[in-house]
Amino acid sequence: MAMKVGLSSRVFALNTTHLSEVLDNTSRAEAAAVVMGSWKVFWVSGAIVFLQMIPAILSWGQHGHYATCKIAERLLTDGVRAAVKELLPEFANGELAAVCSWADDIRFHYRWSSDLHFVDTPDFRCQYEYCRDCHDPAGHKNRCVTGAIYNYTLQLMLANHNSVSERKYNLTEALMFLSHFIGDVHQPLHVGFTGDLGGNTIQAHWYRRKTNLHHVWDTMIIDSALKKYYDLDLTNMITAIQRNISDNWSDDMGSWEACASNYTVCPNPYATESIDLACKYAYRNATPGSTLEDDYFLSRLPVVEKRLAQGGIRLAATLNRIFSSQSPISVA
Ligand SMILES: [Zn+2]
Repeated sequence: MAMKVGLSSRVFALNTTHLSEVLDNTSRAEAAAVVMGSWKVFWVSGAIVFLQMIPAILSWGQHGHYATCKIAERLLTDGVRAAVKELLPEFANGELAAVCSWADDIRFHYRWSSDLHFVDTPDFRCQYEYCRDCHDPAGHKNRCVTGAIYNYTLQLMLANHNSVSERKYNLTEALMFLSHFIGDVHQPLHVGFTGDLGGNTIQAHWYRRKTNLHHVWDTMIIDSALKKYYDLDLTNMITAIQRNISDNWSDDMGSWEACASNYTVCPNPYATESIDLACKYAYRNATPGSTLEDDYFLSRLPVVEKRLAQGGIRLAATLNRIFSSQSPISVA
């Protein structure tokens, strides 16, 4: 029996044996090649809601998401920028960055989406493995940030190659989720340890303010930088990051953008980088009860700025691949 799918973006893992029923004219092989290697993760809109206690895990704050998407916007090709604008909701006023925190705004309305903002590893394991780690707290496979990135990329790709899919998925929501989650997976503590909920349960002081480690990385480092270096103007910070991209990181851009084997999207290496940075920078010297001040701030800010740059560059590269008419849906 064909899987019924509606216009909601609700997602659940789909057994690949149902794939041909769901994907209409798109062949199983073509679609499988969109996602990484052997995982063949497919998610579609559906009606299952996992109602659970949702941990208070937030994402890059509004500033972080806005910066990521602003950096991405400038790197879209003209044709892709137009395709993206077509999908944006009216309230975006044609600006992708304006909707990059939407997924946070609706997370308590779309409660099923709450677990899709992060992926945590077993405690003190500084390596990420999709198969082991990508599940929600109840153990449902593929419900994590990297699984969600595959899901929404697939929805947009299928719609771009197959008009039937356009009616199946809410592509505006798919674009807004994808743009948000590519930002999230670059926040190191969105790939943190399970036991402390990615730093959420590690209470600390940020200078004199009581907070938790996750929030330090979502928001406080960026806010302190805005205050100290950027005249409280996010545009100045984004301009500085863009200058770094063209001056200091131009040689790295190619490798940051690329996906192995010409895949359309490749969130797994980004998650691997994040847990590595979480171990080396976020958790280090940030034990429960510690006070984090200049030493921590000054050594971690470059990490945050580089992750915002990488997130923006990779979001743009992914959207360029998805919407480019030359781009094949599958790997040769
Ligand atoms: Zn998020």
